[in-house]
Amino acid sequence: MTGTTQDDYTDRYARRVRGMTTSEIRALFAVASRPEVVSLAGGSPYIAALPLDAVGEMLNQLAAEQGASSLQYGIGQGTVDLRERICEVMAISGIHGASPDDVVVTVGGQQAIDLLARLFLDPGDVVLAEGPSYVGALGVFQAAQAQVKHVPMDDEGLIPAALEEAIAAVERSGRKAKFLYTIPTFQNPAGVTLTGERREQVLDICERAGLLVVEDDPYGMLSFEGDAPLPMRARRREGVFYVSTFSKTFAPGLRVGWILAPHAVREKLVMMSEANVLCPSAFAQGAVTQYLSTMPWQEQIKVYREIYRERRDAMLTSLRDLMPPGTSWTHPTGGLFVWATLPEGLDSKAMMPRAIAARVAYVPGTGFYADGTGRNNMRLNFSFSSPERIREGIRRLSGVMEQELAM
Ligand code: PMP
Repeated sequence: MTGTTQDDYTDRYARRVRGMTTSEIRALFAVASRPEVVSLAGGSPYIAALPLDAVGEMLNQLAAEQGASSLQYGIGQGTVDLRERICEVMAISGIHGASPDDVVVTVGGQQAIDLLARLFLDPGDVVLAEGPSYVGALGVFQAAQAQVKHVPMDDEGLIPAALEEAIAAVERSGRKAKFLYTIPTFQNPAGVTLTGERREQVLDICERAGLLVVEDDPYGMLSFEGDAPLPMRARRREGVFYVSTFSKTFAPGLRVGWILAPHAVREKLVMMSEANVLCPSAFAQGAVTQYLSTMPWQEQIKVYREIYRERRDAMLTSLRDLMPPGTSWTHPTGGLFVWATLPEGLDSKAMMPRAIAARVAYVPGTGFYADGTGRNNMRLNFSFSSPERIREGIRRLSGVMEQELAM
């Protein structure tokens, strides 16, 4: 039947599909992308800041000079050229001495998380993750039929004592947590960064408990105030899986990310990826390799840092000037997001239609928790809109909140 939304297939779905719901973010994109709406909802980098003409020329050259290989199937692990470049990128972040042989190229950071979930999670297994955590990772863990236990953060990131407590609670329930999924640097959505001292503590705790660490680091290079603390993978080799992506430093449309895995595990990941996508796009890998080899990509990151810092400042200043009393928010030193906590009684999810009517969009906090909490939170993105639009967006948002409070 055409034109009906009734789903006659529900009884046939696999168990892993049954709990799946549309991501709140994706559902919002359609309305939030209307030009009259100031969208503080997405997580898109400000692609207009790229030298798009030069990138276009580079892509033409790639097609002309390496068409035969870049339009052909590639190998599951990804090209050697790109894996070598990735090791150079990681060295800049402080991860020295990684071998290209231990890198697996993926279809964005998203597929990297999915591969690790497929590799390690059986239905019913527990994953520990910051509360709140990245919505796309929560979707992966749900599809793997794993259970996410959130560990709270404060301004210095994940709280080590709370992590110990969460591990003990899982053990008391007779189950085993397989890994800690963490975004230690400029966290999505909270915008906070795990301090160097706490990184050591978290690593020690995980080592003692026999818990693997999945370190997701898409934002580490987008720092506004000096360098971010060393990645966890730079501090420990074993037991830490490092995931990153070119989505925030170059182009999310190319869908190129990677995993740096302990050597013994790398082959299994490649097998999982072959069963999943056969091989990542050869053309996209060629484009990233060319970009890293022939264009001033580190200068471009400095440009992004400047743009985002100015926008972060615009957001923090507007929040301070305009938000009703009782609202609080994080003060990110890098990345793309601020996490706000609303005054008592406000519900970010229920408020959303009124916000859209007032032509401003955000993501309600509930999308970032597996357990339905987060109603008094929202994620605000500052990478995509100009400082003027951000200020206007916060003005509209505070107007909506004032009205809700008066109801
Ligand atoms: N991890 C985190 C924390 C993210 O914020 C994102 C993108 N928003 C990803 C992974 C996935 O990025 P991509 O698949 O575009 O590389």
